[in-house]
Amino acid sequence: MRLSRYFLPILREVPKEAEIVSHRLMLRAGMVRQEGAGIYAWLPLGKRVLDKICNVIREEQNRSGAIEIMMPTIQSADLWRESGRYDDYGKEMLRIKDRHERDMLFGPTNEEMLTEIVRAYVKSYKDLPLNLYHIQWKFRDEVRPRFGVMRSREFLMKDAYSIDLDFENAVVAYNRMFVAYLRTFARLGLKAIPMVADTGPIGGNHSHEFIILASTGESQVFCHSDYLGMDTPEEGVDFQDPAALQDIVNRWTSLYAATEEKHDEAAFAAIPDEQQVSARGIEVGHIFYFGTKYSEPMGAKVTGPDGVETPVHMGSYGIGPSRLVAAIIEASHDENGIIWPEAIAPFRVGLLNLKVGDAATDEACEAIYAELTARNVDVLYDDTAERPGSKFATADLIGLPWQIIVGPKGLAAGTVELKRRADGTRETLTIAAALERIIG
Ligand code: ATP
Ligand code: MG
Repeated sequence: MRLSRYFLPILREVPKEAEIVSHRLMLRAGMVRQEGAGIYAWLPLGKRVLDKICNVIREEQNRSGAIEIMMPTIQSADLWRESGRYDDYGKEMLRIKDRHERDMLFGPTNEEMLTEIVRAYVKSYKDLPLNLYHIQWKFRDEVRPRFGVMRSREFLMKDAYSIDLDFENAVVAYNRMFVAYLRTFARLGLKAIPMVADTGPIGGNHSHEFIILASTGESQVFCHSDYLGMDTPEEGVDFQDPAALQDIVNRWTSLYAATEEKHDEAAFAAIPDEQQVSARGIEVGHIFYFGTKYSEPMGAKVTGPDGVETPVHMGSYGIGPSRLVAAIIEASHDENGIIWPEAIAPFRVGLLNLKVGDAATDEACEAIYAELTARNVDVLYDDTAERPGSKFATADLIGLPWQIIVGPKGLAAGTVELKRRADGTRETLTIAAALERIIG
């Protein structure tokens, strides 16, 4: 992509309305535009990151055996009357009337609709296990939308729903998602810690919030410091092997980790002082077993091996991709801007032409651009007439992992500069060596 033909509305001023660093950087880097309270348009750079995050999530959901669908954003109120949640949900639900005066709503979540789909098609234990997910916009009329896309009213969610014959099978489904989440967050460059969360009237211990530690987090969390160094499951983990999954879950739940609502002072005090972590955290995912809470009132039943019909056991598993964009920036930035992890960087390389119009510099940049493009490396070529200082500032602000800096002086000696955004290291290399370093 040539920057001269791209749409990257950089802000030089620090936006006053933004209270936290991720919100400031997202506005300054031209990633999002506020269109209303808690409602954002995603501009090209932001959209690329959002898509990359969704793809990592999708790959790990698919690997675990979940199947992608797409449910609508607009739902019928009648569906929610069946579960009893139409009245319970309160003001967070955006209620709408269509032209026939029918009550509709903009979905804040999809348990009811998914249960309705299951009820229509799934009749036998032989159709199970099943896990269906979608990545779709949700609307929750939050009392206090704030911190940009971190807590917005319209936000993207990956929500998966598992359907099983009984509790034992539902636990296997829960563990699959638990392991898939560990892998997903690790691939996004995050240390997400599964913390015991509230199960409400369902009871049991199958509810975990995946939390990343950040000073700007909205909740107070408590955990053992060893979580920060724990190895995440390998790509080859066998999702068909319940014992292997249980081992991983056991290890990841063996130490203390809880959100404020579930905090146990005594258990926390038993951790050696130097290993106690009490910090602020951002919830990036939540997995939850809720049994027959919806299948029972809505009549989603299957016939078991014994010929008896029973309501299916379900769980739901959410991740917030739009919140993740902000959370990743909170975890990875410096005073000059964002530092994207390679896996989700909007472009891998920024190519900076320091003297547009100089024949040799233009020619070298064109050659590098063509070579990277041919090798399927995403590159943003700064071919604008801006001064070098401003190009450096923009490149650091938008945080691409690599910068190739091309100017007439270096070229005269046959070299370019290669800068790694993560640690700021710069190397003077021939063009071939710089490309080799990136392409490998
Ligand atoms: P929170 O406690 O932060 O309000 P929640 O418990 O209501 O979140 P869930 O219903 O578990 O959230 O939703 C699943 C995921 O969706 C959350 O883990 C989070 O990543 C994301 N999410 C929830 N609410 C918002 C929001 N207002 N803005 C952005 N992302 C959100
Ligand atoms: Mg939650």
